[in-house]
Amino acid sequence: MRRLPVFLLRKETEWMARPTKRRAISAVSTLLVAVTAALATTSGGAPVGAQVPAGSERAPVPLENFQSKEDRLFQVGYRLATANAAYCRSPVRVTGLLIHDAYSYGNPEAVRLLFGLAGDIGVQSVAPGSPAARAGLAQNDTILAIDGTPVATGWQKAEERWKRVFAIRDAIDASAENGALELTWSRAGGAPETARLEPVNACPTRFELIDSKNSAAADGERVLVGENFPGFDYDETAFAAAIAHEMAHNIFRHPQTFEVTGWKRSLVRLSERDADRLMPWLLQNAGYDPRAAVRFMQTWGPRHGGWIFRKRTHDGWDERVEFIEAEITRIEQVVDPNGMADWRTHFTSELETHLANVT
Ligand SMILES: [Zn+2]
Repeated sequence: MRRLPVFLLRKETEWMARPTKRRAISAVSTLLVAVTAALATTSGGAPVGAQVPAGSERAPVPLENFQSKEDRLFQVGYRLATANAAYCRSPVRVTGLLIHDAYSYGNPEAVRLLFGLAGDIGVQSVAPGSPAARAGLAQNDTILAIDGTPVATGWQKAEERWKRVFAIRDAIDASAENGALELTWSRAGGAPETARLEPVNACPTRFELIDSKNSAAADGERVLVGENFPGFDYDETAFAAAIAHEMAHNIFRHPQTFEVTGWKRSLVRLSERDADRLMPWLLQNAGYDPRAAVRFMQTWGPRHGGWIFRKRTHDGWDERVEFIEAEITRIEQVVDPNGMADWRTHFTSELETHLANVT
């Protein structure tokens, strides 16, 4: 996988997007203790599963917290990406399903036990209203077969444990791209179910939660959010604003552009301004209040003014608020009766304008 520099929302130091799916390996011993304790409180013969027994005081273990954050990120990302598909160049077909692979963690058996999986490939998230949701899939179902090919035999475990889940995700995406995807799954040891999913269009971005990190970033193809990203504490709309900013970098292919032009500070500054300015458009189309982009900036600006908001690659936070407010005014002028704001027609990229003028 090509490694691209990423856009940072939080840290001043750059880190590279990790092509590996390194999960909370260190949490596994804690996890085993917690799972054992949880199971000890169930009555004998109770089905092994992720469900916390009624009355149990057990606190969520790290992997459950990780799952709930990745679920939140995926749901918000799906909503933004599908709602804006009509205006994105080269939309892709998606089903609203995010899977993970117990084998990619340090202790697959503990992960299967924790989430009640009947195999390695579990459902990490299902976006509300998505084709996967309409087919009846839910979090912690076990994916058994894709287009009739059993996952247990169709995809070999690789020495690099993170690889298999990416291969399966690619297979699901390829099937979706071809127009239809057939999945077989089971829930909590129940009988297998099979359904065909009818994919929908989305802007081409994946969303991934990264363990240990506290930043949000975009690498051209993925929005990468650290599990300790402070935005998880914001309300959903402000969180969506942060995700929209990162998504905008991918929509405009900023990392790919800077691979060619070099990461010149003046250009990066324009790209940041474009990402800020597109935020309210993306929010508007997804049914979020576009003014959340302003609230997000006002929350981040005073609190984090010392770093990204004063960096020479970014405008000051108060200027950023003004740029966003100008876009909200523009949205109000062009929004159609369905509440859709066509940013492909009505949004002017300052970076693209600048690059067109100098070349
Ligand atoms: Zn940015």
